[in-house]
Amino acid sequence: MLSRRQKEWLKQLLPPAVLTLYHHTQRLLYKGKLAYYQIALRGNTCYCPFCKNTFARFLPDGKKLPVLDQYCVVGGGYRPNCICPGCGSKDRERLLFCYLIQKTGIFSETSKRVLHIAPEANLKKVFMQHPQLHYINADLNPGAADVQMDITNIPYPDGFFDAILCNHVLEHIPNDALAMRQLYRVLKPGGWAVLQVPFAEALTQTMENPEITHPADREAHFGQFDHVRIYGHDYVQRLQNAGFTVEVINAADFLDKTAIQKMQLIENEKIFVGYKSS
Ligand SMILES: [Zn+2]
Repeated sequence: MLSRRQKEWLKQLLPPAVLTLYHHTQRLLYKGKLAYYQIALRGNTCYCPFCKNTFARFLPDGKKLPVLDQYCVVGGGYRPNCICPGCGSKDRERLLFCYLIQKTGIFSETSKRVLHIAPEANLKKVFMQHPQLHYINADLNPGAADVQMDITNIPYPDGFFDAILCNHVLEHIPNDALAMRQLYRVLKPGGWAVLQVPFAEALTQTMENPEITHPADREAHFGQFDHVRIYGHDYVQRLQNAGFTVEVINAADFLDKTAIQKMQLIENEKIFVGYKSS
């Protein structure tokens, strides 16, 4: 059995066509697992806004790691009711969907250019159902999205996008300041970007150390084998340094307690939105 690190290494060696086939196979296996739980977890305790199904509970996801508890990291780690068996949506994806509907109105817009980095599958599907939007989804890994892109070197002109979604990406990127500046550069004046990251409530300063490179050490220090930091309260300042005006809101600002509970959202998960002044 290959370790996760060996799998990641092997994936880098595979030609794009084989990698695409690998991703398709993985998705098929995952769908088979969900099909089983769609029957096993019939009920009406939980509701998914994507597939509009109800279930007795959602499926768990994430790891229990001491570092995540120690620094009170929200948006990472083990969540017992995370994955919808109907469509595979995760808690943070459901939260983002509710935010987009209720606070941005993006799906009612026309001719807006949207950049979606490391696209969440269900959100991508929703955007694809809105052809009046110019929707571009991108990922660093070949085959994982329609466009292969390194967000420290975004191949689009200044002010090109009206909206950007870049969630749980920046914690993977060694030069996050450069990535933030690039995201700001391609955002249109008056545009907005949702920039979610795992966020440590107990850390004033972001914890990072470029000398920690081994996947096992990264998991122990930063909560995931491919994370290079855990963001603390200075995350807002980092975004401001790139040029963004930052708004921080959470689920309770636009959803009632019943909806949060029913959709199994993380109540204290902050949504970080960066704006570019017109
Ligand atoms: Zn669902």
